Amino acid sequence: MSFMNIMPNRMDRGFLKYQDEFEQKALNVLRSGWYVLGNEVESFEKEFASYVGAKYCVGLASGLDALWIAFRLLGIGKGDEVLVQGNTYIASVMGITMNNATPVIVEPDEHFGIDIERIESLITEKTRAVLVVHLYGLPSNMRRIQSICKKYNLKLIEDCAQAHGARYDGQMVGTFGDVGCFSFYPSKNLGAFGDGGAVVVNDEELAREFKIFRNYGSEKRYYNKVVGANSRLDELQAGLLRVRLAHMDDINKERQYIAEKYSAKINNKLIKKPQPIDNSVSVWHQYVIRCEYRDNLLEYLSYNGIGTIIHYPIPPHLSEAYKYLGYTKGDFPITERYANTVLSIPIYNGMTEKEQDYVIEKINSFKVV
Ligand SMILES: *Cc1c(COP(=O)(O)O)cnc(C)c1O
Repeated sequence: MSFMNIMPNRMDRGFLKYQDEFEQKALNVLRSGWYVLGNEVESFEKEFASYVGAKYCVGLASGLDALWIAFRLLGIGKGDEVLVQGNTYIASVMGITMNNATPVIVEPDEHFGIDIERIESLITEKTRAVLVVHLYGLPSNMRRIQSICKKYNLKLIEDCAQAHGARYDGQMVGTFGDVGCFSFYPSKNLGAFGDGGAVVVNDEELAREFKIFRNYGSEKRYYNKVVGANSRLDELQAGLLRVRLAHMDDINKERQYIAEKYSAKINNKLIKKPQPIDNSVSVWHQYVIRCEYRDNLLEYLSYNGIGTIIHYPIPPHLSEAYKYLGYTKGDFPITERYANTVLSIPIYNGMTEKEQDYVIEKINSFKVV
């Protein structure tokens, strides 16, 4: 195949597919004269809760806000420990440390999820919660994690920022624990046109607390019950998210189609392909391969016009921001090994068959000399 230029992600394609609907909605919101916490947000919350199968959804300003406010409202703070996998985006860990709670790093399993076998040995009297990250859209075994949390009386929070619509045991992620946290950052499977986030919960009182907290701690204007935050989802984003949500099944199906094709046709012995666990449905936020010669592969693909991303080159425990936690290189060898071998190859809505074939062909012809 002749040379092609393929970016790791193409958000413009996802927009163009439903351009008329997005533009109509944006105009309607702009002309409505109501821009924060209105009908669009309320409707989106109802529709998203119903989509994931939760009783309540509360729209927030970002995925990070969903995480830190969740820990805050669950009463997790100084002196408390929260278990979280080492190979995650730093926001997962920040959600914990913004509350002055202590992240306890757990090594991941073969499927990029928290290694459930390691959880029990890390539980102490200070452990208050487990944060499960459904990284890359790959769900963890939530039934097993639920039973561990029940046994030790721990809160269970899910970071679903990369997993809108992913399922374990037929149930959508975000609904297995106390709070499901979502991001609508533009590149996510359900992406807005700016920042946005949400939590889903089944507890009515907790949903109410999120609504109060996101609006400066007030339910009634200028009557502030708690010291909250400004973390509101705006009407424009909510309206545009409703447009995208109506097509969510198609959006995820398209990514599943590409991922299945990659899994069927990439056959280079130097490449390890991602594998969802049994009884799960991934939504393939990323298609992450592993390769011992990752840096050569990245360079070779780039030379051939294929853009890739490393998610993530520096695990949170080794980042400068978390020096104060006192970890050093070698503390979490599996996590660190992933940082050195993972590569996310292009997968996006609107990716053409030709682009997919080109990526497959180039990966299959990669060799080390
Ligand atoms: C994107 C992301 C977040 C944070 O979401 P923002 O909306 O960018 O704050 C949290 N966790 C994971 C795993 C993410 O991918």
